[in-house]
Amino acid sequence: MFDCQDVLNRTYQRVLAMENKGAVASYIPELAKVDPANFGVCITTKTGEQFHCGNSITPFSIQSIAKVLSLSLAISHQGEKMWERMDFEPSGSSFNSLVQLETENGIPRNPLINAGAIVVCDILCDLFENPKEELLNYVRKISGIKSISYNLEVAKSERLTGYRNYALLNFIKSFGNIKNDCDTVIDVYFHLCSLEMNCVELSKTFGFLANRGKQIITNTQVVKPSQAKRINAIMQTCGFYDEAGEFAFRVGLPGKSGVGGGMVAVLPDAYTIATWSPKLNKHGNSYRGMKFLEYFTDETQDTVF
Ligand code: GLU
Repeated sequence: MFDCQDVLNRTYQRVLAMENKGAVASYIPELAKVDPANFGVCITTKTGEQFHCGNSITPFSIQSIAKVLSLSLAISHQGEKMWERMDFEPSGSSFNSLVQLETENGIPRNPLINAGAIVVCDILCDLFENPKEELLNYVRKISGIKSISYNLEVAKSERLTGYRNYALLNFIKSFGNIKNDCDTVIDVYFHLCSLEMNCVELSKTFGFLANRGKQIITNTQVVKPSQAKRINAIMQTCGFYDEAGEFAFRVGLPGKSGVGGGMVAVLPDAYTIATWSPKLNKHGNSYRGMKFLEYFTDETQDTVF
């Protein structure tokens, strides 16, 4: 019989025994302070069981992983209208690139690169009077975890060092694809990046993407099944910076990473899995997270969850 905890533990030990390669993100002091030895994983199955090991209940900065949550909130209100303001193609460029915006008239390539996520924040400013509060309440509601919060120190650091994000915002605004006040939009974006969760919370929060839009544990319909399909498709093609192809080849699942060293991946109709290890490879993806997910999916390829 399949013993999920056993496979998780063995895969964890296998990766732990390897050299912990890469470097912790240092573009803001808060991220550079994190102990690189941290390594946690958690899987939430479609039936609501959770198995975890390592530093799975230590909170970390989920960073760009949160872009999937702002996208879900926007898509649940806007539906197909979203795609008038951004595309859904992989960019092949770095997450904070300005290059394609010029030839594509301020239409970001997808909602998971910074340019696209900033436009999603602008959509949230269109939709809500208090977008920051609304976003946080949404994340708490869909996860069923009331303690999830922004890390205000991280948000402040993002603001103090986010020259490239200000550039993206202003550049998109010059094409008319930002409708609201720039300071308000970028404030939502920096708070989005500062959301904190641990692996247990992260895999639970993403449960709706493994369950046709319906949250696994809380049983709430977060997005329509067709919208869950689209979000998974975008994660599959755009979720791992300019390493999305490599991730698909090694792991084969839709997912998203963040520069805090977190990763989340989804096997529709089966499970969501979250990993956290702060050292990043040269593409900005967690070195151990990627190894863990490769070995775990190799080992469970013919398992029915
Ligand atoms: N807060 C980061 C930035 O906007 C996001 C980094 C990431 O996780 O990709 O630069």
